[in-house]
Amino acid sequence: MADPAKPTPHPTPETQPFWDATALGELHLQRCRACDTHYFPPRPFCPHCHTDDVVWERCSGRGRLHTYMINHRPPPGWRDEAPYTIAVVELEEGPRMMSNIVGVEASPESLELDMELEVTFEDQGGMQVPKFRPATAAVAQTGEVVA
Ligand SMILES: [Zn+2]
Repeated sequence: MADPAKPTPHPTPETQPFWDATALGELHLQRCRACDTHYFPPRPFCPHCHTDDVVWERCSGRGRLHTYMINHRPPPGWRDEAPYTIAVVELEEGPRMMSNIVGVEASPESLELDMELEVTFEDQGGMQVPKFRPATAAVAQTGEVVA
């Protein structure tokens, strides 16, 4: 029996602007204009000061690996990719986002806490889902240090 496809995100009115942006290859977050704080996940009110004076803005797409786990027993639809990494990424703007780490082996030897990451997007059922990979700038910086 064939595996079912990976689950596809279903946008709600609150999350539609997020998915509109990922469709363009951009990561957007909400920012509260009253207390100047970015937050995630999407909601119509600032979780810090409760105002509704909030805007959507493109963020840098850069972050750091806050924590992770390696899944060796994936659900249907993910079997070809096991093991894979489920991570909490702390974005440069502050909010933390659950995602997957791609472009690097899913092993403790390859995943260093606080390693610099950058967003990339993976098509899941026609939706562009944000994932994170080791930042290319970090590789360049390491190269400079070594040289
Ligand atoms: Zn606020």
